[in-house]
Amino acid sequence: MSRDFLIIGGGVVGMAVAYGLARLGRRVTVLDEHDGSLRASRGNAGLVWVQGKGLGMPRYAELSLHSSESWPGFAQELTARTGVELEYERSGGVDLCLDAQEAEARQAAYRTLYATTPTLTAMRWAYLDREVLREHLPGLGETVHGGTFSPHDGQCNPLYLLRALYAACLTLGVDYRPATSVSAVEATHAGFTARTPTGAISAERIILAAGLGARTLAPSLGLSGQVRPVRGQLLVTERLPPGGRLPSPQIRQTASGGYMIGDVLEEVGYDTGVTLETLHSLGERAIQIYPDLARARLVRTWSALRVMTPDGSPLYEASRNCSGAYNLSCHSGITLAAFHAKELAAAIDTDRLATTYGDFSGARFDVQAIG
Ligand SMILES: Cc1cc2nc3c(=O)[nH]c(=O)nc-3n(C[C@H](O)[C@H](O)[C@H](O)COP(=O)(O)OP(=O)(O)OC[C@H]3O[C@@H](n4cnc5c(N)ncnc54)[C@H](O)[C@@H]3O)c2cc1C
Repeated sequence: MSRDFLIIGGGVVGMAVAYGLARLGRRVTVLDEHDGSLRASRGNAGLVWVQGKGLGMPRYAELSLHSSESWPGFAQELTARTGVELEYERSGGVDLCLDAQEAEARQAAYRTLYATTPTLTAMRWAYLDREVLREHLPGLGETVHGGTFSPHDGQCNPLYLLRALYAACLTLGVDYRPATSVSAVEATHAGFTARTPTGAISAERIILAAGLGARTLAPSLGLSGQVRPVRGQLLVTERLPPGGRLPSPQIRQTASGGYMIGDVLEEVGYDTGVTLETLHSLGERAIQIYPDLARARLVRTWSALRVMTPDGSPLYEASRNCSGAYNLSCHSGITLAAFHAKELAAAIDTDRLATTYGDFSGARFDVQAIG
């Protein structure tokens, strides 16, 4: 067996882990589907975001904070290796509250999470009312109540991140195979085999990073792969002069000048369409936030399906009955990319996933029999 790892899925999760393992000297093959497949990594908002993550699971908040601390070095390293600029900046971010009720609920939730978790004392955030916020968000609309600011938040161009990961992986000898759809995976006496239209491909260990594809592949390896699609829709404006406005989940100005608008979560199964109704309400809210955008032309819109676990936190699974098989599913693959490329890859390499990151296993979704 000439390969150490087979990774199924070449999205941002699979490629970040492939990069991390290749950097450790492992021989990695990545099998990826075709351009028409579902790919959250190519349709997301590009936020490297910490605040609000892990509201029901403080360890997820820790990972997000940790990853955001690692992001500057991670971005620098990828750019140095590949020459690809990620348009990464970490100047802080604001999650807006449109009314007093939302502001109160947000602050209460943040206080509960950050004040009661000893490992999160480094987390900094503050509620800023509209007047103060205007210094960070020039031209903010009169009807916005305020927002939570955190200096840990930032943004990048997620497509350049992906491009850099592909380029870095190639330089490290990762065998990336596009248009290679895996129909089945199985444990063998010597490791694992993936069935593809061009034949069987084997390696000593296997990592599923197949996004929504985990649902069908994971069970045969004793992994849960519990994910469901949650749709998001985005709108992009024409390029406009830099507004000097911090990013927010509701709206952010990209490095090339366009405003990216949209943070909706829609339970519509595998429907990848866009709807006028949602786009209209996103546009209206964008104008409420920045009234000057009423004159901006819209140039693009799309939808993408989130890879959502039952509780929204990452799912990092090591198979109990097929030792050497892992499943990685998460809804924050951009934010967590720095962590995935380093600590997570190292934990898989030394087979410590179940011990070091056991809180994130599928066991938390098991239904407990009572009585
Ligand atoms: C609208 C939206 C906005 C988002 N905004 C942010 C954000 O601002 N910040 C953030 O951190 N995260 C954000 N996310 C989440 C982020 O995009 C995802 O967490 C991340 O892209 C998941 O990456 P992935 O590699 O697991 O999945 P995917 O990108 O879906 O990749 C899975 C890959 O596996 C391949 N595959 C699947 N099945 C098979 C098979 N059988 N054989 C071979 N290959 C297979 C697919 O072709 C695909 O390339 C957003 C997501 C959406 C949808």
